[in-house]
Amino acid sequence: MPRFWQRLTQKLMPDPDAVEAESRKWQITCKTCGHSRNLWEAGGVRYKAKGSKSSYGPCPECGRKRWLRIHKVSD
Ligand SMILES: [Zn+2]
Repeated sequence: MPRFWQRLTQKLMPDPDAVEAESRKWQITCKTCGHSRNLWEAGGVRYKAKGSKSSYGPCPECGRKRWLRIHKVSD
């Protein structure tokens, strides 16, 4: 599903490379174990967004759903 979403978003965006480059600047960090992974690698898309946000989703390290923080790498 996430890969499909990435392709769809890229199709809708005027500059698909910019969407990927922007998405790669974001990290997903598990609030429970601190495990970090790249948003784009995880199948996510984030473009022209600011600040960080919380999301509830699966953590590969915990092996279950956790509260995750989505934030820019430069944070
Ligand atoms: Zn975790």
